[in-house]
Amino acid sequence: MRRIDLQPLEPFTSDFIDRTGAFNPGALEAATAIIEQVRQEGDGALRALTQKFDGVAIENFRVPPEAIDAAMAEVDPDTLEALRHAAAQIRDFHERQKQQSWFFAREDGAIVGSKVTPLESVGIYVPGGRALYPSTVLMNALPAQVAGVERIVCVTPPTKDGTLDAAILAACKIAGVTEIYTVGGAQAVAALAYGTETIRPVAKITGPGNAFVAAAKKLVSGDVGIDMIAGPSEVCVVADETADPRLVAIDLMAQAEHDPLAACYLVTFSDAYADAVEAAIQVHLADSTRADITRTSLDDHGLIVVCTSMDQALEAVNVIAPEHLEMHVEGAMEYLGAIRNAGAIFLGAWTPEAVGDYVAGPNHTLPTGGTARYSSPLSVDDFVKKSSIIQYSPAALKNDARAVVQIATHEGLWAHARSVALRLKALLDAEQAS
Ligand code: NAD
Repeated sequence: MRRIDLQPLEPFTSDFIDRTGAFNPGALEAATAIIEQVRQEGDGALRALTQKFDGVAIENFRVPPEAIDAAMAEVDPDTLEALRHAAAQIRDFHERQKQQSWFFAREDGAIVGSKVTPLESVGIYVPGGRALYPSTVLMNALPAQVAGVERIVCVTPPTKDGTLDAAILAACKIAGVTEIYTVGGAQAVAALAYGTETIRPVAKITGPGNAFVAAAKKLVSGDVGIDMIAGPSEVCVVADETADPRLVAIDLMAQAEHDPLAACYLVTFSDAYADAVEAAIQVHLADSTRADITRTSLDDHGLIVVCTSMDQALEAVNVIAPEHLEMHVEGAMEYLGAIRNAGAIFLGAWTPEAVGDYVAGPNHTLPTGGTARYSSPLSVDDFVKKSSIIQYSPAALKNDARAVVQIATHEGLWAHARSVALRLKALLDAEQAS
């Protein structure tokens, strides 16, 4: 891992970070052509593109209910139990995020408020190329279900034999998703956005995917909602001398093994400690089943920052704005107030990031690439929209008429001013008549 030794009071700046962008111009060009083809040719394009990119001929994209039920029997009982355990905790966490509509009555009789309405439909992209992610189904479908979304659609690419992974189907069943299509890539995103003969369009598309999926989501955004464009995954571990270097090492590796582009940061307080973590990584690598990906990620995108104080370390964390932050330090909770930028914060030695990936309850879809400076994890809020409610009484209109007319006149909007002035006149006339 690359290493930086900061001097006392030396600020950590974003120049120290080498971020790999989520975008690749080639993928954007390919996704543009794929989207156009799906818009022109509908299901025919989905069949042709699935044959081309996944090497599979699919006649019916819709997964029949029998196949979903059969998957429940096919998944091994321990995995099924683990998915149910995770689903219960994810649902419980997201239930607490649910917002109610609210109204506020002003003293002059005006009522103002915010009405919360679930989206009518969402499409969840579940990646299926190089690995299988039933956890992605749970993390996207459960908040949508808690929000009250009626139609939750799942799209995912076929495996080599044209079927879908049983655990993904089982996760759909557990999360209440019944409309599932065997189609992936940019073509699936296009189908969800614009519809085909088989797939009705949705209001919003969520879920991670490769560069083609990310490019397609960016291209259809505006015609439909999207959640976020996720870049390579990241972890930042802040470790002091009380942290076991072997645990810090394995937690860094748990992120690095995702992707050669994944970025791992160790923020610590001595070169000797950093050496101990690096040595522990070498020991773990001998047993890793994903040693190549892990090594490439740590060599190309790993960074150790050796700080001279906790204040300096926390400043570095806020500049990195990591997707995942582990505070592997004594009294971790004490520092929570000083952490401004992080997607998810894992406190203390007993909280490896992996618990958050699967079972703790909070969503594992988190802002990457420094976007934690201004955005939040996927939540129930992503699956609802709000309408403002305004109802005026005569007294309220009288109260506010002068200000409206004044501002509208200043803005040169004659009818705006007149719409209030006419009502005000009617009120005053009625008062005089009584
Ligand atoms: P994927 O489902 O995203 O992509 C597979 C599809 O890509 C194929 O079905 C095909 O249609 C399309 N494709 C492949 N080659 C193409 C080409 N040359 N031109 C056009 N389309 C092509 O699966 P993946 O590729 O394994 O990628 C999954 C991604 O999702 C990874 O980057 C992984 O890190 C990420 N992921 C992120 C999270 C998270 O929460 N952040 C979770 C799970 C997965």
